[in-house]
Amino acid sequence: MKPNAEQLKLIDAQIKRLIKTDSYYGKMYRELGIDKVESFEDFKKIPFSSKEDLRNAYPLGIQAVPDEEVVRIHSSSGTTGKPVIIPYTKKDVEDWATMFARCYEMAGITKNDRIHITPGYGLWTAGIGFQAGCEKLGAMAIPMGPGNTEKQLQMMQDLGSTVLTATSSYALLLAEEINKRGLKDKIKLKKGVIGSERWSEKKREYIANELGIELYDIYGLTEIYGPGIGINCDKNEGIHYWDDYLYIEIIDPKTGEQVEDGEEGEIVITTMVKEGAPLIRFRTHDISRIIPKKCSCGSEFPMLDIIKGRSDDMFKVHGVNMFPSQVEELLQKFDGVLSEYSINIAHDETKNKDVMLLTVEAEGRVDFEQTAKEIREMFKAIIGVTPKVTVVPINTLPRSEKKTKRVIDHREQ
Ligand code: ZN
Repeated sequence: MKPNAEQLKLIDAQIKRLIKTDSYYGKMYRELGIDKVESFEDFKKIPFSSKEDLRNAYPLGIQAVPDEEVVRIHSSSGTTGKPVIIPYTKKDVEDWATMFARCYEMAGITKNDRIHITPGYGLWTAGIGFQAGCEKLGAMAIPMGPGNTEKQLQMMQDLGSTVLTATSSYALLLAEEINKRGLKDKIKLKKGVIGSERWSEKKREYIANELGIELYDIYGLTEIYGPGIGINCDKNEGIHYWDDYLYIEIIDPKTGEQVEDGEEGEIVITTMVKEGAPLIRFRTHDISRIIPKKCSCGSEFPMLDIIKGRSDDMFKVHGVNMFPSQVEELLQKFDGVLSEYSINIAHDETKNKDVMLLTVEAEGRVDFEQTAKEIREMFKAIIGVTPKVTVVPINTLPRSEKKTKRVIDHREQ
């Protein structure tokens, strides 16, 4: 999706402000001779920004306002190396709360609700974002933070929490506890707002059924304000995002070119009005697509599809993008089949065709040949590619202490 005139104007102002600063990006853009964004062509000349940049700029190199304007910092953990520090101005904090309040509203939450907040408070953006959005909306915040399940359940009953906000794993844990203790009739939860880590349909159904609530996926990342930049509505046709604050493009992660609306690729976000740490063309590594239609709820806000996975995990066969998580989800449907599997992809020179071999482990009671056939058919129906499938006994595939590399692509050499 190309930026519209209003978005271009905001991005242009952002660039013109940035190059007057000695911030990391201010210097970078000055050196590259980037001084305006008046057209899509100008915009495309701006290099992508990345988490790597933010690490290079540690701790506060990215700060694009004078010290007295910074009111808060947040930090993202990051699995490797240095953390990333993001400074916020008063306006940034307010804008974030406004976006978050919009998320609650999109989920049908009102000031009469009591929002039970279990994400953590602290350096990262979770708890405090849920709280600020709640206060902005005018609902009652119950700032629990994570852990202490005993107390969570007590407060949930005593205060009559109507909305649960949590990570999917914590929501699952609470659902199981509520089920185990037979508390379902004593809680008043109606809705759950769940942080948008990828989660299986099975887990989702379990939580929704056990707690008898509607679930909403909230999207966001610390580098771009935090959670609250998008959420699905009741129609559940996609994740609405706030295009008056953010310009989102979808790119081919290999070439960096924008793909057509509706096509899958990596989400790249430009903050149009952020002051403390503006990011232009930030690569999220999240894979999704822009849904090229209006939602039937009538909202004008555009939609992203649910996040399908990380670009780092993605593999492609016969032009179809796939993720290990999809394979796992598919294998879960087969009784007696384990989640241990491996995928080998190679190029067959004689047929000039890619070949994909899926090896899965199954319990001895399973009919290996019949199961292989069924997996192959379901793979074709759901994912759109037909692999060669071999079912092998338990413990045939190599195990490793580290995260097992499940997809081996022999085409890369
Ligand atoms: Zn909608």
